[in-house]
Amino acid sequence: MNKEIMCVLCPNSCHLKIEYDESTKEITSLTGGTCKRAHDFALQEITNPMRTLTFSVLVSGGTLPLISTRSEGQIPLTDISKYVTILKGLQLPAPVLSGDVVFQDDSCKIIATKNVNKHK
Ligand code: SF4
Repeated sequence: MNKEIMCVLCPNSCHLKIEYDESTKEITSLTGGTCKRAHDFALQEITNPMRTLTFSVLVSGGTLPLISTRSEGQIPLTDISKYVTILKGLQLPAPVLSGDVVFQDDSCKIIATKNVNKHK
């Protein structure tokens, strides 16, 4: 099996070409990476790709109608749509401060990344 991906671990954005066994996920060839982190990233991408989720959540009674949020750390790519659905359904009462936990379960914590003050 072949896969081409961009490594997102640093601004170099290396274009990785991966050849691997689909059943064992063993990488048989990896080119394009310019450091040793490429192998671990490629392995994660073919076994359990992870992403940071960023999303804007509704705020009620605030000086702004939305607040930007992000996941603390990365979550499985396959779970992103589930958490987007959850975040779409939230409406947070102002004020919301940067760092506030806006949602949390056993495997994911979403925090605010800016302040939205209470409307006077
Ligand atoms: S392979 Fe290494 S140098 Fe290239 S983007 Fe990934 S971390 Fe950066």
